[in-house]
Amino acid sequence: KFTPVHNMNGNLEDKDKNSDDERIRILQWNVLSQALGQNNDSFVCCPDEALEWKRRRYHMVQEIVSYNPDVVCLQEVDHFEFLKKALKTQGYQGTFFPKPDSPCVYIKDNNGPDGCAIFFREDKFKLIDTQTRILEVWRVQSNQVAILVTLEDRRSGKRVCIATTHLKARNGALLSTLRNEQGKDLLEFVDANARGAPVILCGDFNAEPTEPIYATVMNHESLALGSAYSTKHNQEPSYTTWKIREEGEVCHTIDYVFYSKDRLNVEAVLKFPTGEEIGQDRVPSLKYPSDHFSLVCDFSYRDPKSE
Ligand code: NDP
Ligand code: CA
Repeated sequence: KFTPVHNMNGNLEDKDKNSDDERIRILQWNVLSQALGQNNDSFVCCPDEALEWKRRRYHMVQEIVSYNPDVVCLQEVDHFEFLKKALKTQGYQGTFFPKPDSPCVYIKDNNGPDGCAIFFREDKFKLIDTQTRILEVWRVQSNQVAILVTLEDRRSGKRVCIATTHLKARNGALLSTLRNEQGKDLLEFVDANARGAPVILCGDFNAEPTEPIYATVMNHESLALGSAYSTKHNQEPSYTTWKIREEGEVCHTIDYVFYSKDRLNVEAVLKFPTGEEIGQDRVPSLKYPSDHFSLVCDFSYRDPKSE
């Protein structure tokens, strides 16, 4: 039997009250592409059954719906139709944008390209606008993408702009520069399309907080972004992914939820499971379906008078 290994923190415990008010609960998660996870990642301690689609897909859906998020931002989605169908039964509507040359399509028996997806609760939000972008590096399209949606709260009429991305993976100075350039293009894309709405920008940035891209995001003048986990705990978490590949164990922070710090307050964030709870084989595992943890954050609108 699957039991979520997360600990709840603060207001996240009132998960059923969530849809009643103006609060926005967002779940950010690199779900692990089915094709890549089974054929490319070489997770050495993960049992084969844990990666079987027929089993894993329900863990993915369970992980998402158990937190009752208002908005869901996902990366490495290569089974959008399944997620769309499953999440529709729970009241969500979604959009998908694939990578132009996804590594998934080179894998035998793949299910198409992977990409980013955003889902939102239809009873809470009206969709105002959807934009997609193939991120550019020095004005040339790269293989990484972003999606942006502008949502309007059906009760209050307040708007929020949600964007998500999955930046270029792997280490090295050149790739760190590439991610920084992708990030600059991403910020320009968000700034051009937010149209005055508060922004929540989340994703798998494939960069630790010490990389240039982190400072580029945090120092963007007009967007004025903060990082939700860092605001709440005065520092980024110690890890957002923890896996053992053939080349060794990897445990670091590369996923973030950035937000307009003058327009939104962070009310609560979901704690990650401890090393002990995760277990020595790390993730993915029979208990947890991805190599990245889900980040869950509650935001409230800031009273303009208090600024
Ligand atoms: P990225 O470098 O961004 O990585 C692609 C995926 O690989 C990510 O989802 C990433 O996951 C995962 N990954 C990162 N590190 C490792 C690792 N050590 N072991 C296994 N998987 C890892 O790739 P691009 O999007 O730039 O695409 C790769 C390019 O390679 C494409 O342009 C494609 O054309 C090409 N390609 C060609 C093939 C061929 O047969 N011709 C086969 C495969 C790819 P995370 O973000 O979670 O770290
Ligand atoms: Ca991956």
